[in-house]
Amino acid sequence: GDIVRKPIIAGNWKMNKTLAEAEEFVQAVKNNIPANDVVDAVVGAPNIFTQKLVEWTEGTDLKVAAQNSYFEDEGAFTGETSPKALADLGTDYVIIGHSERRDIFGETDEEVNKKAHAVFNHKMLPIICVGESLDQREAGETNEWVSGQVKAALEGLTAEQVKELVLAYEPIWAIGTGKTATSEQANDTIKVIRETVQELYDEETAEAVRIQYGGSVKPDNIAELLDQSDIDGALVGGASLEADSFLKLLEAAD
Ligand code: PGA
Repeated sequence: GDIVRKPIIAGNWKMNKTLAEAEEFVQAVKNNIPANDVVDAVVGAPNIFTQKLVEWTEGTDLKVAAQNSYFEDEGAFTGETSPKALADLGTDYVIIGHSERRDIFGETDEEVNKKAHAVFNHKMLPIICVGESLDQREAGETNEWVSGQVKAALEGLTAEQVKELVLAYEPIWAIGTGKTATSEQANDTIKVIRETVQELYDEETAEAVRIQYGGSVKPDNIAELLDQSDIDGALVGGASLEADSFLKLLEAAD
């Protein structure tokens, strides 16, 4: 197909920054974001800053992601964040199923799927993360594992929804380690993900869905990743924390 997928670069600050540091970052970048007909620019700040981020970025091309959401709208869920409340604040995207959520907080495939539905129910878009461990890669289990995660995460979503959402392929061994998957390795696994979407839906949906790579993406390696046939953007932790570095990542996609 000839579908042109718009790149999407999303920062994932994880549990970093004070409110003052978050504001300094936003003021430094918000008027330097490439137009959003060329690239989607997203900042994934700690959920506690979401309301401020939405205020500060109003009228700019910088979009705001939460880093997690619960799947119920309200109730006795002490300490959780409601998707309804996130939507009410003006949140654009929610990162779902990051490997740190899965590994440290025990999030299951089933919960990831429920969260994806909840995010759509509130008219936000999920960025759904999948990826294998080093042991799994070395045992040759990557394709089967990642494809299973994708199937579980997308269960019950419509083709129209899948065309709108974002998948992020993040090999766990490449996150925060300085070890990037080679751009060919990343592209190969992302092709497997796209084939999985084709199997579940159809060619049109598979051609439309945007799939990011994540794991030690930096200003000096993003260009070759984005050059690959199937890599449609990046989910970036460490290199998204500094304004200069974040802007360089966006320029590479511009
Ligand atoms: P990293 O993190 O860029 O620091 O490797 C990526 C991620 O966890 O999303």
